Amino acid sequence: MTAEVIVDIAHSEVDKIFEYRAAEGVREGSRVRVPFGSSTVDGYVMRLKEGSDFDPAKLKEIVAVVDHALTRECLALAKRIAQRYRCPLALTLRLFLPAEMRRGAARERFKTVVSFSRETELPARAKAQRAAYAYIKEHSPCDHAALCREFGGAAVKALVARGAAVLSKERVNRSPYTQMEGEAPARELTPAQKDAVSRIKGSAQTVQLLHGVTGSGKTEIYLTLIALALKEGKSAIFLVPEISLTPQMLSQLRARFGQQAAILHSGLSAGEKFDEWQRLRRGEAKIAIGARSAVFAPVENVGVIILDEEHDGSYSSETNPRYETAQIARWRAEYNGCKLVLGSATPSVETYLKAKEGEYNLIELPERINKRPLPEIVVADMRREVRRGNASAFSAALREELENCLAAGKQAILFLNRRGFAQSVVCRECGAVVKCAQCDVSLTYHSEENCLKCHYCGASYRMLTACPACGGVHLSYTGTGTQRVVGELKKLFPSARILRMDVDTTAGKEGHYKILKRFADHEADILVGTQMVAKGHDFPGVTLVGILDADMSLHFSDYRSGERTFQLITQVAGRSGRADEKGKVVLQTYDPENYILRFAVRYDYKGFFEHEIALRKSTAFPPFARIVRVMVTAEEDRKALETLKEVYFSLKELYDAHAEEFLFFNKMHAPVRRIQNKFRYQVLMRLRGDSLLPEIYERSLAHRSRAALVYVEEDPGNLS
Ligand code: ADP
Ligand code: ZN
Repeated sequence: MTAEVIVDIAHSEVDKIFEYRAAEGVREGSRVRVPFGSSTVDGYVMRLKEGSDFDPAKLKEIVAVVDHALTRECLALAKRIAQRYRCPLALTLRLFLPAEMRRGAARERFKTVVSFSRETELPARAKAQRAAYAYIKEHSPCDHAALCREFGGAAVKALVARGAAVLSKERVNRSPYTQMEGEAPARELTPAQKDAVSRIKGSAQTVQLLHGVTGSGKTEIYLTLIALALKEGKSAIFLVPEISLTPQMLSQLRARFGQQAAILHSGLSAGEKFDEWQRLRRGEAKIAIGARSAVFAPVENVGVIILDEEHDGSYSSETNPRYETAQIARWRAEYNGCKLVLGSATPSVETYLKAKEGEYNLIELPERINKRPLPEIVVADMRREVRRGNASAFSAALREELENCLAAGKQAILFLNRRGFAQSVVCRECGAVVKCAQCDVSLTYHSEENCLKCHYCGASYRMLTACPACGGVHLSYTGTGTQRVVGELKKLFPSARILRMDVDTTAGKEGHYKILKRFADHEADILVGTQMVAKGHDFPGVTLVGILDADMSLHFSDYRSGERTFQLITQVAGRSGRADEKGKVVLQTYDPENYILRFAVRYDYKGFFEHEIALRKSTAFPPFARIVRVMVTAEEDRKALETLKEVYFSLKELYDAHAEEFLFFNKMHAPVRRIQNKFRYQVLMRLRGDSLLPEIYERSLAHRSRAALVYVEEDPGNLS
């Protein structure tokens, strides 16, 4: 047999199949060691065949089989992804393996176990042996290390020598969150939930859009669909934004499905990730739960794929290949003949349009569980507050609601936009703004650590005493938004317990889990945070949500800013009043007449959608057009510019030949001109359709080199 192998070489831009003679045990999808040049490298067997395109005598032999990491579906999917995003197969295949496995950084762990073997006479004076013998006989199999600790290594060794017990190796599963396993019976579904489940199961379409208001019980529907898949002997994939993988969510899943669920997220240790992945690959675990990358989980015979918070920006990959998670999930659903369920209270307008036009099956849940009311949203006009002389971050209405909430022993969440409130350091003499040395971005002052930080690369700088531009000593500092708000809160409510959650407090692997856990355990009364507090959390104690700066995301020059604002407000507001107590929301704005806010306040998704889609249509923006950005970055400015020109002229030929397809076409600096010491340029295009996409990829990527990176983004979520 001959094996067609893709070699996994770092930075390889070669995407060539190499042929090797396949030894016994090599399968399609095997990870193998092969001779390559003067060394031995890892490779993946894409195909096995009889004969060879080359002289069979000259073929080298596969050195060893590492494992059978890739399923047939993985191979098919990898090819499709490589084709669609014009990405080398070697790079695409890496998506399917946790980094811990590729680098060999994590391995299986084994432990020694001692099992009872046969009845044995022991000398009366061998007290330790007799005790160990009795213990093993009753508890077999036992952990070797624990036995030795208890009875002494010599005694255990002697028992084995006598043939009373035998040693063997057993694989250890480093499984996270096992302490959360327990009894959690499925809830009785409400009629609306039952109806949703049966409509999804009975639908002829692959993609299902579950549009349910916050608190409508979508999670219970997902769990039911997963349980049904398991019952049919199938597996399931459950995707959530990373931030929603909260301890509550995880414990709910562990409680319901125990070890059948494998959890894949960035907070796990390398060993845990490795073992969870292996359990899925071996079929011991049937449910893959995780953020974006879990869409590549090695489960077979998939019965359902769930993608929760469908609109969330974290589902777009920010490294090559720049895939859309929903696209990959859809391919997997088609391959397996199962359903892909997209869930959201605020679907993206692209998705909702597809549902309305019949491409997706639309299921709506317009009410909360048990007809609980959605929280009332009160608008506080901050212009009026300023006129009244209130310069604080809190309107009178919000202050009063906070007082009531705290007096009732309830909890509150205060939300503010990081970008909106982040403050830079300005020289009051020359007006210069202090910037990062590696990025073209102004630094943000962090009063707690008393330092300056770059929010793009994370670099931290010591405090300045003088302006780097003019030497002036009058610098103006204001802390980050969350710090400032917490400072004001402490003065207003000295006895309230306050937690802050933003990029600074959530550093470290379990940063946000810990904060959310403490808040869930009611160790704090008020949670102040940025976007992170908006996601699908379910805190029954929360009856008040304050949105401190509803307008901030409205003023970005991005065509999606209106949509983002609507989604954010709806999501944050949805954290309030989820249990028996009615919830309230105070929304502070300088622009109360804004139509986006007016739709959001009434929870009028459809009104918002109709307005937004009409706007997109009349201005020819996605989904009625496609925005494509080709980025060129390089450490040398000259090299970046040179490459940009090459890319531009190559694309210009395409433009000249198909001008009618283009609504916009130009080259320019990227809005942030330098990030992490790399200069950034872009060719920006707005296209009527997708027909030129393959050609655009082809022409652009042809100009990448060691010195200059080139990549293509489709409808990028972030245009910085
Ligand atoms: P969503 O994901 O739609 O925002 P959740 O799934 O978090 O909503 O459900 C909202 C609340 O309703 C949760 O506290 C959940 O425990 C509860 N809930 C969901 N389904 C049921 C049910 N069938 N019976 C009783 N309570 C339910
Ligand atoms: Zn920086």
